[in-house]
Amino acid sequence: MTQRDILIIGGGPSGLSTALHLARDFPHLIPRILILEKACYPRPKLCAGGLVLDAEVILQQLGLDVTEVPHVDVDNIHFDFEAKGLNVRLPKRHALRVIRRDEFDNWLAKKTRDKGIEIRERITVKNILPDQNGVTVETDQETFLSQVVVGADGSNGITRRCIFPNAPVYTARVLEVITPSQPPPNATEVHQSHLGEVPKGRERVAYFDFFTVPNNIAGYVWDFPTQVNGEAMRCWGVYDTNILAGAKRPQLRESLAKEMSRIGFDLDDYEIKGHPIRWFSPENPMSVPRVLMVGDTVGADPLFGEGISIALGYGALAAREIGESFQRNEFLFNKFRRRVLGSALGQTLIARWIIAYVIYPLKWKWFQILLWRIMKPIVILVAWLFVLNWGKRMK
Ligand SMILES: Cc1cc2nc3c(=O)[nH]c(=O)nc-3n(C[C@H](O)[C@H](O)[C@H](O)COP(=O)(O)OP(=O)(O)OC[C@H]3O[C@@H](n4cnc5c(N)ncnc54)[C@H](O)[C@@H]3O)c2cc1C
Repeated sequence: MTQRDILIIGGGPSGLSTALHLARDFPHLIPRILILEKACYPRPKLCAGGLVLDAEVILQQLGLDVTEVPHVDVDNIHFDFEAKGLNVRLPKRHALRVIRRDEFDNWLAKKTRDKGIEIRERITVKNILPDQNGVTVETDQETFLSQVVVGADGSNGITRRCIFPNAPVYTARVLEVITPSQPPPNATEVHQSHLGEVPKGRERVAYFDFFTVPNNIAGYVWDFPTQVNGEAMRCWGVYDTNILAGAKRPQLRESLAKEMSRIGFDLDDYEIKGHPIRWFSPENPMSVPRVLMVGDTVGADPLFGEGISIALGYGALAAREIGESFQRNEFLFNKFRRRVLGSALGQTLIARWIIAYVIYPLKWKWFQILLWRIMKPIVILVAWLFVLNWGKRMK
């Protein structure tokens, strides 16, 4: 049996952020950390790659510059209902940065290794058994004994299944498609839109359209600029929190196909992929003695399914919890939940959870029009105060 004091299961943004924060704040723990990752970098991860400013703030606090990763800057974000609504632009800077997750996670893993932290790839955790003396972690290769385990293994991960097999699960359905940046030249449906005019100059604009909500799809369709191997592309997708799951809903792909056809793309021409997102609810459990969970394992943002900045934020909190536990030589983690909920991250997650339960069940068309087209200043103010800008307060 191999012994390592801090085992992090999963080398995505939440696991790597936990390790990087430990390295920054408790450097004496570096040789005691091991990250177990089932894939091999650069590994594929289904994700639109939209990085909000809070993610960049947390990375900057770690001394990392995300512009080292190939990216596309987005100047305008549209929050629309049927192609008309609210345009968000930040003075003198980008509103969103779009990365590809294989490249971003590979970069972050390299930065983690540069700090002297060991990452083992192609090793899959199969079982996690905490007891008073430590945590036994069984993998497809060997068994580890650890003082502390961090479950950072994402929405489908093993940690949650082992530690909280009966806890309620709130999971969004998400589909994603990558297309060229321009529709094929023979596209005939452009300008025949039932939803409005095709927007011009879309290269640096990201769209969220909530036209799906009156059809009981409690989410939106997105359309982001992105790049793949340096070539300009678009990333499309549809997000459904499942908050309206009790009502009759069309197939998820129908909403995506509708939005794509408005711009001249035929969904059937492209490969469609799906992955769930486990989202945050204040009742979600976060720890047991010797085991902490971070990132999607606890829950991403329910409102938009935004999870990269959130995962980085969980990592900062978990590192503090672990570092202090080693100082006290006590690993109950019974205050971790209070730490998360009382933090700037916890406050934004609670705010987004409340907003999701307000704006999605009020699914009438007139309400969505009111929200995205008429109440613009109020929506921007609420977003500025309660949804964004939490990264700076994570110090
Ligand atoms: C279609 C889609 C689009 C999205 N778009 C955005 C977006 O634009 N912006 C945004 O902020 N968020 C987005 N998200 C959410 C975001 O991808 C997640 O919130 C984020 O990846 C969570 O990070 P994580 O580190 O918690 O988990 P993950 O990124 O899922 O990482 C978990 C890691 O654990 C590893 N692992 C899993 N099981 C095991 C095991 N048994 N043993 C060892 N290793 C294991 C996995 O290989 C993986 O590397 C999107 C999600 C989806 C599905």
